[in-house]
Amino acid sequence: MAAQLDGVLEKDLQEKIKNSKVLVVGAGGIGCEVLKNLVLTGFLDIEIIDLDTIDVSNLNRQFLFHKEHVGKSKAEVARDSALSFNPNAKIKAYHDSITSNNYGVNFFQQFTLVLNALDNRAARNHVNRMCLTSGIPLIESGTAGYSGQAELIKRGLTQCYECKPVPGQKSYPGCTIRNTPSEPIHCIVWAKHLFNQLFGESNDDEDVSPDTADPEAGAEVGEAALAKDANEKGNVDRISTRVWAKQCDFDAEKIYNKLFFEDIKYLLSMSNLWKNRVPPNPIKWDSIVEEGEEVTDAVARDQKVLTHSQSAKVFAESIKALKESFTKLPEGDYLVWDKDDKHAMDFVAACANIRAQIFGIPRKSRFEIKSMAGNIIPAIATTNAMTAGLVVMQAFGVLREQYEKCFHIYVRLVTNPRKQFIIRDKVLIPPNPKCYVCSAKPEVVLKVDTKNVTVRELRDDILIKALNMVSPDVTLDGTSTIVISSEEGETDCNDDKKLVDLNIVDGCVLKADDFLQNYELSITIVHKDPGREEAAFEIIADPSSLKPKEAEPSKETEKDEAQPSTSSGQNGSSTNGKKARYDEDVSGEVLVVPDDDDMPSTSKAGTSGSGAAGSSSSGSGVEKRKHVEDDEEPASKKVKVSAQQDDSDDDLIIMDD
Ligand SMILES: [Zn+2]
Repeated sequence: MAAQLDGVLEKDLQEKIKNSKVLVVGAGGIGCEVLKNLVLTGFLDIEIIDLDTIDVSNLNRQFLFHKEHVGKSKAEVARDSALSFNPNAKIKAYHDSITSNNYGVNFFQQFTLVLNALDNRAARNHVNRMCLTSGIPLIESGTAGYSGQAELIKRGLTQCYECKPVPGQKSYPGCTIRNTPSEPIHCIVWAKHLFNQLFGESNDDEDVSPDTADPEAGAEVGEAALAKDANEKGNVDRISTRVWAKQCDFDAEKIYNKLFFEDIKYLLSMSNLWKNRVPPNPIKWDSIVEEGEEVTDAVARDQKVLTHSQSAKVFAESIKALKESFTKLPEGDYLVWDKDDKHAMDFVAACANIRAQIFGIPRKSRFEIKSMAGNIIPAIATTNAMTAGLVVMQAFGVLREQYEKCFHIYVRLVTNPRKQFIIRDKVLIPPNPKCYVCSAKPEVVLKVDTKNVTVRELRDDILIKALNMVSPDVTLDGTSTIVISSEEGETDCNDDKKLVDLNIVDGCVLKADDFLQNYELSITIVHKDPGREEAAFEIIADPSSLKPKEAEPSKETEKDEAQPSTSSGQNGSSTNGKKARYDEDVSGEVLVVPDDDDMPSTSKAGTSGSGAAGSSSSGSGVEKRKHVEDDEEPASKKVKVSAQQDDSDDDLIIMDD
């Protein structure tokens, strides 16, 4: 093996490669390529971890897998395939989640370096923190379509994965989805929720019926509508959509009339909503005007924008088919929406278009709806391969200890004027001194509706989902109050309490601590009453960016100051029957590719967030993380150097096409 590398890699580096031990996190599109590259460049001691199993759809780009491997562990098959390139290598595979308690700081510290090949932000954030804590260099990578990148993250030297604010996650307030959609995506999100209400895992956050608590409708209006409704129809709206649908045996006409006629009429009765909006136009099943011919050709059906009557027909057909699959399931089981399931996709496309028509929103083809509903950015095998090559070249830089030359490298679809499509930064980006992860004293401000948000939401939606902790402990600063404990059962009695019930009010400071990540965060609470279009909480990563509070700011001004440039852009909301969260998933084999718009893409919720609580204090003996100030490059180096490369620059990797 080594003989083939002579003349390609210098002797010294070959030696270092042989003596290093690397961890590859993820055995998907990039991970397979990285593993192959490692084995072919002489790495002998490799560990690889991935919790996924191989799916047929992986086979077009994850070339260590073949048809006979479908259903098997990605990590294990990747190991076996890679070993065939170099049987002398030692590869250990873990079919597991990297966020599990089994992989604490001690685990990370055994490696020379860690290579990320992940497909989701949650796992990336976690590995980022583990590498910062352990002081192990991390090569982070990602692709989105034809764009890709690889970057070195080293404590104290470079920015960390969480130094940059998260690009705004698309989230849609509950009232917009339920009462006043104005864009096709609002109807698509609604249709996906409807699918779950009828056939999927039902979720209180995904209610599809009119939201009577919409603040803009005015309390009396909502109540009046409710009273009227109760008088006319008994309690029909108070039972769950699914129970009701089951009672009418999933009769397409009845379901249609309920959703697209009665519910819409109900919305119209909330007249405040329509003062400045075009009101919707309810359409009854038997008044649908036949238009357009029946579309039987599958391709045409995918590409054409169907008429209302065509959509209604597809609606009826798909309900019939879904009902059949659903009723075959054992009691308590449910369907999972999948864009590649014909009937599930037909259903969402039809419902979205019918609702769009009613609200005067442009309709879309099934194909367009599919890509919006599935957040699809295609994964391109060649981009993955190029990016994986860059990852291993960055690894060489680390082994040579030439950190100062390990600039962020990008793969681009569009070449620059010099016809280059692999481009790198000119400088290393130093850590952000205000980063709420890698700075000396991590802190954030949490603007939150303390009167309505519960402790459970604080833990699940804010600390775990938005701030990426695994199993946090939280205390109220200056008191002995334990708000949240990572010990199972210890603070269950707090779960349903509102923050205010535990005296967590405006001005309080919470201390949150995640033992596994060895991460402590100070959270200053600012109470806010969320406006209609706002989420119930907002995390501000840089507290100094907050303006001094004004007395009683109006809703408009609150909105204006809601997104300072340093805001993490994370949104969430109370599920208190008033507003719900509508996050779209982020990141396929993707991370932020500068210059490109924040692009949502497929996510497989890669890591199963909270590891088994209770045993959270395993990997003990953890040395306290050294913070930036301990290292040579002080955080005082405030220059925020532009990450964007200059096209006219000479210092580029030349790779003409
Ligand atoms: Zn950072």
